Amino acid sequence: EIVWFNGEWMKYNEAKISVFDRGFMLGDGVYEVTPFYEGKAFGLKEHLARLQYSLNEIIVDLDAYGLKPLMFEAISKAGLSQKDAAVYVQVSRGVAPRTHYFPDNIEPTVLIYAFPASLKGFENKQWSVLVSEDLRWHRCDIKSTSLLANIKSNTQSHSLGLDENLLVRDGLFTEGSHSTIFFIKDNIIYTHPEGPQILSGITRKFVIAICAELNIEVKEEAFPLSELERVDEVFLTGTTTQVMAVKEMYSEGNNIYDKPEIGPVTRKIQQVFIQKTRSL
Ligand code: PMP
Repeated sequence: EIVWFNGEWMKYNEAKISVFDRGFMLGDGVYEVTPFYEGKAFGLKEHLARLQYSLNEIIVDLDAYGLKPLMFEAISKAGLSQKDAAVYVQVSRGVAPRTHYFPDNIEPTVLIYAFPASLKGFENKQWSVLVSEDLRWHRCDIKSTSLLANIKSNTQSHSLGLDENLLVRDGLFTEGSHSTIFFIKDNIIYTHPEGPQILSGITRKFVIAICAELNIEVKEEAFPLSELERVDEVFLTGTTTQVMAVKEMYSEGNNIYDKPEIGPVTRKIQQVFIQKTRSL
């Protein structure tokens, strides 16, 4: 309901954007979603660092860390200080006549708001997913608001009654449309290495650290679609997805992966993840 927009707090329906805002017209902006467990931020430093990275990569001169107090304020203004929630931060380049290059010295448009998030009980759910082609550009490390390829894929999985897409580029799994993928085979965990093909997931970093604590070997290697039948467990991670077991996968109408039970390695990681996020 309450949003930070153009330098002040206002009701969301009072916030008006210029038709020449480059975020609106060209998708020229970046964003970040940070979880708050019962009012306590989880991975705030990492989320701010990634926002700063995205801003630097698209050459917007703004101090991401300066937004930190506004994020807490968004939580309290929304009455979410005791609840599970997330804060959305978006920075668009600002308002300028439409050109493909961007002019110097325009003021970025900043939007911040908090929303309730259901973060409890993920360990009792499993997702069914669609394996589809990764249609995205080659700078997926930038958390851009230009999400057309993700939207196109996710709408297809949603229309089939599925929960997420696993994206494949050149025969290798990259990531989900809004999550990171982990494969478990012979007690080794595989996940795509950081780089331009994936978003550097914050939950991914926490899960890799949890695996180190649990003495589970992690290989940051892209996993091939052709190896899927030898996989024991698959799970997805993300800020609101947390650590979600994958139950089944579909590709062109065929079921290509089917694990009705949540596997033991996924369960262990989920338990430690819950301990960490619920003792903030
Ligand atoms: N990949 C993509 C494309 C995403 O949109 C997200 C969700 N932000 C993730 C991975 C997971 O990242 P995080 O754990 O930081 O939420």
